[in-house]
Amino acid sequence: MKYRIGVDLGGTKMFVSLANGDGEIFRSQRVPTKALQGPSIVLNHLKSIVNEIIAQDGISLKDVEGLGVCIAGFFDIRSKRIVSSPNLPGWELFPLEDELTAQYDLPVIVENDANAAAYGEYVFGAGKDKNNMIFITLGTGIGGGIITDGKLLRGSRGFAGEIGHMIVLPQGPPCGCGKFGCLESFSSGSAIEREGRMLLQEGRSSILSGLAGPGSVLSASHVFAAAREGDKEALKIVERAAYFLGLALSFTVNLLNPDVIVMGGGMAHSGEIFFNPVRRCLEEAAIAPAAKMVSLVPSCLGDEAGVKGVLALLDDHLQGK
Ligand SMILES: [Zn+2]
Repeated sequence: MKYRIGVDLGGTKMFVSLANGDGEIFRSQRVPTKALQGPSIVLNHLKSIVNEIIAQDGISLKDVEGLGVCIAGFFDIRSKRIVSSPNLPGWELFPLEDELTAQYDLPVIVENDANAAAYGEYVFGAGKDKNNMIFITLGTGIGGGIITDGKLLRGSRGFAGEIGHMIVLPQGPPCGCGKFGCLESFSSGSAIEREGRMLLQEGRSSILSGLAGPGSVLSASHVFAAAREGDKEALKIVERAAYFLGLALSFTVNLLNPDVIVMGGGMAHSGEIFFNPVRRCLEEAAIAPAAKMVSLVPSCLGDEAGVKGVLALLDDHLQGK
């Protein structure tokens, strides 16, 4: 049997997996990335984990037919270099794909992590059999990926699908990308946290201060919990985040007419308190025939979506698709 290796190289953790040709993962390890140590040390670490994983099944690199890596950053598919990545500081212009090819002497593909996760949900998950799909990850930041006519939309150099950095309100809050008023600055977990902290500082929410009392670190989930318990100020934060998400999704619906919008990331299971107003805004803002037919569903692969997607992309690559 031939094996494949899929890696999700994130800013804090890397997920390394061994799979068969059908993309079934049967061994994996999750370890800290230590991205600040720079690409060569991280890649050496990756290699030792790959060797460890394959050795457990008594196989060698000769039995591996390809390596797929997805990364948290802008990866230029033409120059095959990381252009920039807030999550992997110091990796700018690093020729990741060529470096991996030289190290492993195998076919290698590299893809942006949200694009890979979108493809994973399309091939194996919540977007299965839906040829037109928008994928959005709602976590600390907001990532996106687009499937049109059954293909991952990469654009000219692989930077398509950056839904989180569409500006939904000019001169809005600052975003991690350096601009102001991006969707991410309103609707990500860190944006909701920021607004929750302001509520606490201003002493405007007793329910929230009860939930995130002294000693506990406030997170977006506290704000959602307070809103569910009837905290009007917390509910306003949730509804504002939902409004801007619905608005941004309406742009994508008008542009791409998707069958389904798949929501991944930590906030994907926030429930109706969040998704009802998202849906309402989307229906109000998007053109009616496209808004009526699109469904909004949570992802089903969780944090394996990136690795599963990059394995599926590797499979396409090996088959010459
Ligand atoms: Zn931004």
